[in-house]
Amino acid sequence: METAEIARRFLSFFEKNGHTVVPSASLIAEDPTLLLVPAGMVPFKPFFLGQRTPPYATATSVQKCIRTKDIEEVGKTSRHATFFQMLGNFSFGAYFKEQAIPLAWELVTTPVEDGGFGIDPDRLWVTVYLDDDEAEQIWREKVGVRPERIQRMGMEENYWSMGVPGPCGPCSEIFYDRGPEFGVEGGPEADENRYIEIWNLVFMQYERGEGGDKSGFPILGELPKKNIDTGLGLERLAAVLQGVDNIYETDIIGRVLHRAAELTGTRYGDKHEQDVMLRVVADHVRSAVMLVADGVKPGNEKAGYVLRRILRRSIRNLRLLSGTDAFHLHELTAVSIDAMKDIYPDLLDKADVVHGVIDTEERNFADTLRAGTTLFGRAAERTRQAGGTTFSGSDAFQLHDTYGFPIDLTLEMAAEQGLTVDETSFRELMQNQKNTAKADAKAKKLGNADISLYATLLEGAGSTDFLGYSDAESESHVK
Ligand code: ATP
Ligand code: MG
Ligand code: MG
Ligand code: MG
Repeated sequence: METAEIARRFLSFFEKNGHTVVPSASLIAEDPTLLLVPAGMVPFKPFFLGQRTPPYATATSVQKCIRTKDIEEVGKTSRHATFFQMLGNFSFGAYFKEQAIPLAWELVTTPVEDGGFGIDPDRLWVTVYLDDDEAEQIWREKVGVRPERIQRMGMEENYWSMGVPGPCGPCSEIFYDRGPEFGVEGGPEADENRYIEIWNLVFMQYERGEGGDKSGFPILGELPKKNIDTGLGLERLAAVLQGVDNIYETDIIGRVLHRAAELTGTRYGDKHEQDVMLRVVADHVRSAVMLVADGVKPGNEKAGYVLRRILRRSIRNLRLLSGTDAFHLHELTAVSIDAMKDIYPDLLDKADVVHGVIDTEERNFADTLRAGTTLFGRAAERTRQAGGTTFSGSDAFQLHDTYGFPIDLTLEMAAEQGLTVDETSFRELMQNQKNTAKADAKAKKLGNADISLYATLLEGAGSTDFLGYSDAESESHVK
């Protein structure tokens, strides 16, 4: 079943069950605590928090998501994308576990000819939170799942909270068993690669009090109105229904991947390392297209930095794969747009803008690489000649300061040559520069001069730090 068809079926199933179909919100989060939307519930957060009254009691959506914290997993696992789509159904005090669980099961297991996804129940496992006997009972008695197919999981896996006082509650997840060739027997507890997580059902049931952390916190009591928030990964379900080994080989991402292999003269499936790079390229180009289409521009901070990082990583991987410095992003952007246009027809109107932004970044980065690679090579050589394996912080700083090399690029290039980077000293130098700029800005301000240039510098200096955005986009509060 094609990805676009899976999305349509999901929405139409929940629409038939009384849910209002809500279009995806932009990837750029309205929520000031987030940069980019990492989960389907984000646009509904004000309803869950009781800050706004929802215009419907139940809703369903296919939400565009970006998970920056998964970037390093991309291509290495079978299931993590940077951009992905979350199918969801939501209840704002209307129904709870006793309906949400059977609904999810019905959709997943109803035969394809009857509008469902036709998954063999024998392939499915579920998890519930440690003390959620109620959910377990529904799975066993209302749905008929065998007790040995239900596993209990702890806070980390199966509990949702925003990390602050407010609603919280247990989760229950559905896993698909890909079979013995993918790992060991024993359910999701035993092997997260063989048993792939597809659907998370969150039961917002309690009110969380002040204090505590991920390992535990005070619960004030039951919520007066209990809510449902679910998230089913569209790409993961597509991998399952299309019978491919991972999300990168599904109908949409797979097209970008195979074109990248053609363009770089490589064969997907030949060498593990190359395969990972091809998956990274396919994922990153598609993600970049979706980010630019939603208005993100490459930059040195926040969402702009996420975009810059994934574009630059794509370019580097393409160069490594092809062994040349040929430009391939234009073609891969075109393939991504073509592959996604059924689900997002607006991409066609935005194609020129998307191409313009991505082409420019590719050219700029080529200049950066040309200038910086020579300096990098010399510094690496010096390090080795001195018998060391640590690339100095001051070299990394100079690359950053003079050539605009993001630290993660230096880290990657160093690792390729078996070197580590003195990151502590790099960060100290960055901090010194920031402090100096701040002091200068202050002095200028006292003199009533124009400080806008310094402000720009400060922003740039602060955020090229790779760790910057993962902090800013903590996902602890959007399971
Ligand atoms: P995992 O444990 O596999 O990393 P998760 O528990 O972090 O997944 P949730 O936060 O529960 O994922 O999100 C709900 C659903 O969204 C998941 O069950 C999965 O189907 C999908 N999903 C989550 N992260 C990704 C991703 N990086 N790429 C593709 N799909 C994802
Ligand atoms: Mg995860
Ligand atoms: Mg999980
Ligand atoms: Mg989960």
